[in-house]
Amino acid sequence: MMPTSPAAGGAPLAARDALRTIWEALEPLDPSPVTLGASLGRVLAEEIVSREDIPPFDNSAMDGFALRSEDASAPGATLAVVGEIPAGVLFGRPLGRGEAARIMTGAAVPPGCDAVAQQEWTESDPQGMVRVLRPVPAGHNIRRAGSDIVAGATVLSPGTVLRPQEIGLLASLGRLSVIASPRPVVAVLTTGNELVPAGAPLSPAVIRDSNAPMLAALLEEEGCEVLPLGIARDDAGDLRTALGRGLSADMLVSAGGVSVGAYDLVGETLRELGVTLRFWKVNIRPGMPLLFGTRGRTAVFGLPGNPVSAMITFLQFVRPALRRLKGGRTEAPGVRLHAALEHPLAKEDGKRHFVRGILGERNGAPVVRTTGPQVSNILSSLSLANCLIILPEEGRSYRPGDPVEVELL
Ligand code: AMP
Ligand code: MG
Repeated sequence: MMPTSPAAGGAPLAARDALRTIWEALEPLDPSPVTLGASLGRVLAEEIVSREDIPPFDNSAMDGFALRSEDASAPGATLAVVGEIPAGVLFGRPLGRGEAARIMTGAAVPPGCDAVAQQEWTESDPQGMVRVLRPVPAGHNIRRAGSDIVAGATVLSPGTVLRPQEIGLLASLGRLSVIASPRPVVAVLTTGNELVPAGAPLSPAVIRDSNAPMLAALLEEEGCEVLPLGIARDDAGDLRTALGRGLSADMLVSAGGVSVGAYDLVGETLRELGVTLRFWKVNIRPGMPLLFGTRGRTAVFGLPGNPVSAMITFLQFVRPALRRLKGGRTEAPGVRLHAALEHPLAKEDGKRHFVRGILGERNGAPVVRTTGPQVSNILSSLSLANCLIILPEEGRSYRPGDPVEVELL
């Protein structure tokens, strides 16, 4: 798709076109081997085929008595208890007719045994006999070898995000390492003459930099390695040096300086550094002046400086871009669901709005309200929010009870 408006003055791009532009302009980073212990959140780049049956042997699903179902086809069968089979122990011999063995959950069933009567169905006596109170059908309480995964089956495919459950699954297959996406290295720059680092003393007309720590935290959640570039002044030379350093990373994220003010020099400086600007302005609120470009394989984002705009544009555009670099299958957004609005809500423009919301529940159904004023410099209201209410471009006014889409934060 042709990039729309590679200058701050052009028409804003629709949010979905911006996402597609990002997805198509980027390609996955080269995958490499990673140990299982370091693989959380990485994207798998190989097909995982099991060499074995899982579970590897028939075993008991319950604590009880291993038996031959033909011996317990009627209620009240009395069997001789010939031993005990704890988990992890192989029973030495097959079960004969009229015999049972006490067995624990996860223990391998002995040859001849085709069912397990759970303890609650039995009465043991001191003479070493067990009475089975109910008929036990063949296969009862037996977890068959391969009932989870059969040898030769594809268990995971490329593009799968490795969550704790996938890591457990890989361990069960004996995999100690996998081929997966590397951790993207992301350079972070904040810009503005008014900014000082959070530890520095405040002087008049100066504010603390909240974007750098916030963006670093967002990147950490995405499994990235952060390259902090510090704070650049709104000065062409200072910006050129700092942005230039960031272009060696997989991704450069700067905040501030992308609007149309006299000190908003990030776009021009990036262009001078050889960055191809692919869009600058998206039809959203907050966050409209968002800028995206590339230089070689480096993705470049210029986020608006207001901290709320910075975080929302990160979640909606930078996070999908990271998913692309990591080899993800889709630019899927965060978890979205529908909730009923608790109050009226009006929207005066044709932008897509991301409204800070509080999702709750009434009579068992999800309901949502806003956090109140939505100006984009008040970060406290993003801290109150547990979701973003997404109002599409075309909507104008909403009544109480209207369903709206929300994305969990
Ligand atoms: P800008 O996008 O540079 O025009 O900045 C928009 C607003 O966000 C201004 O009020 C800035 O002071 C504020 N701002 C920019 N960067 C930061 C930051 N890193 N931390 C806190 N506020 C910021
Ligand atoms: Mg600024």
